[in-house]
Order: sequence, then structure tokens, then C-alpha cells
Amino acid sequence: MALKIALAGNPNAGKTTLFNALTGSNQFVGNWPGVTVEKKEGRLKGQRDATVVDLPGIYSLSPYSLEEVISRNYILEENPDVILNIIDGTNLERNLFLTTQLLELGVPVVAALNMMDAVEKSGDSIHAGELQKALGCPVVGISALKGTGVAEAAEAALKQAAAKQAAIPAVKFNAVIEGAILALEPLMDGVPKPLRRFYALKTLERDEKVAEKHLFGVHREHPDPLREHLTYHHHDPRDPIRDHLAHRRDRAAHYHHGGLRHSGVELILAAAEQKLGDDAESAITEGRYQFIERILPKVLKRHSSTTMSASDRIDRVVTNRICALPIFAAIIFCIYFVAVTTVGAWVTDWTNDGLFGDGFSFLGRDVPGIPALVGDGLKAAGTADWLNGLILDGIIAGVGAVIGFVPQMLVLFFLLAALEACGYMARIAFILDRVFRRFGLSGKSFIPMLIGTGCGVPGIMASRTIENEKDRRMTVMTTTFMPCGAKLPIIALVSGALFGGAWWVAPSTYFLGIFSVVASGVILKKTAPFAGEPAPFVMELPAYHLPTLVNVLRSMWERGWSFVKKAGSIILLSAVAVWFLSSFGFSGGAFGMVEDMNGSILAAVGNAVAWLFAPLGFGAWDAAVATITGLVAKENVVGTMGVLYGFADAAENGEEIWTSFAGGFTKLSAFTFLSFNLYCPPCFAAIGAIRREMNSAKWTWFALAYQFAYSYALALVVYQLGSLFSGAGFTVGTAFGFLTLVALVFGLTRKPAASRPLQKKR
Ligand code: GDP
Ligand code: MG
Repeated sequence: MALKIALAGNPNAGKTTLFNALTGSNQFVGNWPGVTVEKKEGRLKGQRDATVVDLPGIYSLSPYSLEEVISRNYILEENPDVILNIIDGTNLERNLFLTTQLLELGVPVVAALNMMDAVEKSGDSIHAGELQKALGCPVVGISALKGTGVAEAAEAALKQAAAKQAAIPAVKFNAVIEGAILALEPLMDGVPKPLRRFYALKTLERDEKVAEKHLFGVHREHPDPLREHLTYHHHDPRDPIRDHLAHRRDRAAHYHHGGLRHSGVELILAAAEQKLGDDAESAITEGRYQFIERILPKVLKRHSSTTMSASDRIDRVVTNRICALPIFAAIIFCIYFVAVTTVGAWVTDWTNDGLFGDGFSFLGRDVPGIPALVGDGLKAAGTADWLNGLILDGIIAGVGAVIGFVPQMLVLFFLLAALEACGYMARIAFILDRVFRRFGLSGKSFIPMLIGTGCGVPGIMASRTIENEKDRRMTVMTTTFMPCGAKLPIIALVSGALFGGAWWVAPSTYFLGIFSVVASGVILKKTAPFAGEPAPFVMELPAYHLPTLVNVLRSMWERGWSFVKKAGSIILLSAVAVWFLSSFGFSGGAFGMVEDMNGSILAAVGNAVAWLFAPLGFGAWDAAVATITGLVAKENVVGTMGVLYGFADAAENGEEIWTSFAGGFTKLSAFTFLSFNLYCPPCFAAIGAIRREMNSAKWTWFALAYQFAYSYALALVVYQLGSLFSGAGFTVGTAFGFLTLVALVFGLTRKPAASRPLQKKR
């Protein structure tokens, strides 16, 4: 049997870095059973029969967040052979809080004291030996980033696992708690001895989630009608997030009405809490912190608490009330400018005009482009015309158009990954929290949006960390307003083909995305289903440090690769479909290949819906069709244009590929085309994620309707008023544009509705 090493630790303690160092490239990324939260597993480098599991980052083993539930269920139910607890040495006090709990699980524990490089740099020193004595488990000082001590930590973990040396709880609580534990332990017949203390503590904390499952034979096979009535959501085993959120809310009510139906247990709890004059959970938490406070002076020698670290000094400027926003704007501006307009654009021009165009020269020799190469090949093979069309005008044109923009995506992902790795991303959340709060929104909503800058699906999933149901729904609805990687080709195409790569186009989509989130938040918050105080937002600001190239490249590659895979599957199929529909149609009463695309099925479909987009300035059938295919995957907007504007043709004529595309738009209509496609309902994958997170068809439809209405209103106002100001006459459309603007302003400024309590089901 392979040994299982579970990596547990606080968020940002360095788990992923250590995981990568321990496993190298032998990794497997999947989902935790039943929930779509990333699960990473890998084989320990140089060790055939040991696997490492990267548990979600947690601060404690309470049942309050999905991550905590996943992590502790894994430890309790999957029986890892050893827990490798990664501790952020620069944040000992907070990190040890979790450690004290891990030591109570009856599993061998090894503590990896991480960030030792940063600790040394700050001049502090941590005495690993003293910590080992205090915790009673092996402690190894490491730097996951630099790779020092990593092998020793793995070795210690393997040794501890082989010895099956279960950790010994380190914290002794006050007499009341310890007395209650003693009274509870004998009641747990089915629980293995080393775990009884843990379950007794959980029972005292009234953590029903654990207690119910394992204790006193209380199994809840049949739902308790009283409880069903009291709970806001049904117990739904397929949806642990809802369940744990609901759980937190109804915890008090539930116990009051006889949650743990073991009268002896209830008596012990009541007696203990009476003696404490407080709930036992607080006393237990306090006990842990007292323990940590007691051992800390022996373990940690502070160099000096008065000097400011370099990181703090940077933060003094970067998160400064006055400078923070301009600096943030400048950084984002630079990132999009570099990715879309300069470096990215050079590479993309090469792929579009050279590789997928009429060739390029390499080491002084002329190399033909892919269309010409494949075209010659097909000619030589003497294939049928329709097959040549399918391959050249369908697949190569459609997929090639998207692939052409991959370099820009990679540059963007590289820069975003660097921003995240150096610690600035956390500051963005912090800075924007101040802005959000002014509008009554929670800064917590911004984490999903930062993630959504890569891809909307994990962004939407990250909304799970928001406990307030109303804020969570609102975040799910607005996260995809941020420009994800798949939208980048649309941005790059419009910015390049119509605005000649003007410096402001690409960055403005990011800021317009944030504006859309804030505006939507303000509008929605004023309606009853979303009204209420924003949730408090606490977040850790990691110390700044130089990112390592390997980590940044890895992150870039992971994200980039998923686009390449998409291009080979969804985009390819879509391109084939678009090609087929645009090449075939009824002419002269017979079905067949059509000479003129305007007679194709696709044109017929496009024309049927184009009226909808005409008020936004892009009423041509091809733009309508591109918008619709964009609902499958956003890259399709560009892929479809690639098929329709004949990549292969362009290569033959030797003209710039996107010139004919640009002919169909004015700057204004191109901008509304871009903004509508960015803010309208996202791709199928993201819609699926919205459906899962909302867990309700009604809310999903509401979200999609809102996104459609918002993007439509925005594009309508911009196009109609823009036309008016650029000299066009006043039309019915202009009137509607003004009406919509008034409605938007009213939505933003009206008096908020009273908060409505969350609806009770049944
Ligand atoms: P996780 O949230 O626990 O997975 O943490 P990560 O592995 O993502 O690390 C959080 C941050 O800490 C990243 O920016 C890492 O580069 C950084 N980090 C991780 N290990 C070390 C270390 O040993 N020293 C320093 N200075 N930074 C580290
Ligand atoms: Mg991680």
C-alpha cells in the first residue's frame, strides 16, 4: 500500500509551492468527490509508493467553510498515514492555531516550518527544537520556495508514517473543559481511543457536523420534521456548500430544539457552559491561544519589532489611501498594454500573418504559412473541393484565428501570474475592498473576480467562500463581467483591426469590467433580494517577494494549455459547424454548397436575429452569428469571424487578414460589439458553473437575464448617444438610448429597498 501524505496548512502558508517541490511533475489534478473544488494529488519525487495530497487551505477545523469541511473529512475518513502541516514561520501565532487542532486527530503529524528564508531575512529567529518540544511532533525548518529542507521534511514524514506514531494533543484546556471531555469520552463506544478527545471537543463546540456522524449512534436517516422546518435549506448531500452555510445559520435554533438527542450529552454540555458562563467553543479557542502565547516566547526571538520590514514599507506607498488606486490602475494598464498592444501583438501578428498567413522567413529562407502548406498538400492528394473547403476555410481558418491570439493570452497569463506570485494580487483585493465598501459592497466579492480574470469558471466557484447568501449570488452574477482569457482574442482583434492597437482599448475593458461589477452591485443592492450590510472582509497580506520563474511559467502554462485543449475540441467543432452552415444553403430550390455566403443557412439564421443587435450598431448577420457562437465559448467570436472572413483567402491575396473584418464596423459599432460580447452571458462552461453555484433554475435564469439586460443597455446607450454626438440625426433609437440611460441612472441612485429576510423553503 502506498503511503499517503496529507499537506495541511493555512491559506498562503506555501502548500502549493511545497506540493510542487515534493512531487515535481508527477501531479494529478481533479476534483474532490462531490464538489468542484480542485484536488491535487501527486507522487512523492523519488519515492515510488508515497502520494502527496494538497488539502485546501484552512485556518481551523471548524465546519464553517467548505475548505475546512473537505480537509477534515479527508483526514478523518481517508486515513492519511501522516499529516505534513505546513506552517508559515512569518505568521507563527496564527498558523499554530491549526496545528494544535491537527495534533488531536490521532494521526502522525510532522510540522514543516516554512518561509525560513523570509524569517531569517527579517532578522527574527525561530528555534525549531523548542517548537518540537512544545508540540511533541517533529518540526523541520524549510523554505519551499528555495527548496531547502524539503527533502528532510519528506523524510521525517515518511519516517513518522512508517512508525505509525500518532501525534499527542498538545493543548490542555481549563478544568471545566477537561472535565467535560473526561465525562464525554466514555460515551463514545464506536470511536477509536485516540480520536475520542477530538470528538469530545467537537461535541463541546456543538459541531454537529462531526458529532452527528460519528457519535452516540445518532444517525439521521430520516429527516427530523422539526429541523426541516427550521432550516433554511434542506439537507442536501450533493450540495455540501449550501448545507454547511445553512448549518451555520440554524445551528443555534437546531440545538435548542434537541439536536443531539442524547440526553446525557446535552446535560454535560449544559453543565459545562453554565460553569463557564460562556459557550464552550469560545473557551476552547481561548485555550488554544493561551497555549500558543505561552510557548511563543521560547520559540520565536524577534529581532526588533520597531523596524519596518521592506514589505511594510512598500505597502505604505502601494496601499496608501491616495496612491493606491492610481498605482493599481497604472499596473493593470501596463499589463494589458504589454499583453495586447506591444509584446503580445508582435507575436500574434507573426502567427496570424506568417504562420497562419502567407508565410514568414526563417534564417533567411522563406517558409510558407500553414494554409499554403496544407493547400498544396491537398492539391497534391487531389481531394474533393468540399473537403478542401472544410479543412482550409473551416478548421484552419476557425481554429487558426483563435490560436493566433494564444501568444497574447500567454503574455497576459504570465504577467497576471507574476502579479499574483509577488503578492500584489492580495493588495488589489485589499484596495478595492475600500472602494467596494463605499458602495455598500463586500470586498470578498473581489477575490472571485481576480480569479475570473483567468477564467470565469473557477472565479464563479470561488464565490463559495462568501458566506452571505445574497452577496454570494450577486458575486456569481457579476464575476464574468471581468475579461477572462477567452475574451482576450475579441479584445485583441477589435483593438488591433479597428483601433490600430490604440493604447487605451485593451486596458479599458478591464476597468469597464470593474465598473460593471460595481454598477451592478449598486443597482442590485438597492433591490430587496440583495439588500443588506456587506460582510466584513479580512484578508492576509503576504510579504512581497520576487516570484520564481518556474512557478510563474507553470501557472501560465496550466492556464494556457487549457485554451489549447479547447481550441482542439470545442472551437474546432464550432468552426466545422460554422463552416458547414455558412457553405451550404438552398439555392434555386435545391440544397447544396452555395457560392455566396449570404445565401447560406447561417446567413438565414443570422438575419433572423440580427434585428436584435441592430440598435447596438452591429446588425449584420455575421456579427449576430459570432455573438451567438460566443455563448458556446468566447473564443468562437473570433473563430467564427475567421471562418467567415476567410483566413485562407486572405493568405492567398496576401492582404492583412482582418482588414475585411474591419470593413464591417465603425469604431463605435466595433466598441459596442466588443463590450456587448464581454458583458453578455458568458460561455456554456461558465453558465454551467452559475447553475451549480446558484443551485436553482430560477436564479440561473435571473442571472442570465440580468447579464443580457445589462450588456444590452450599456451597448445601447453607448451606441445611440455616440451616434448622436458624432452627427447622426435623432431617431427612435436615440430616444430609447436616452430612456435606458435614465433607467440606469435611476437604478444607481434610487433609494434602497428594505432588506428582505432570506426566504424559507417550505
Ligand atoms: P498556499 O496557499 O498554501 O498554496 O501557498 P502558496 O504555495 O501559493 O504560497 C503562497 C505565497 O508564499 C506564494 O507567493 C509563494 O511564492 C510564497 N512562498 C511559499 N513558500 C515560500 C518560502 O519558503 N519562502 C518565501 N519567501 N515565500 C514562500
Ligand atoms: Mg495553494
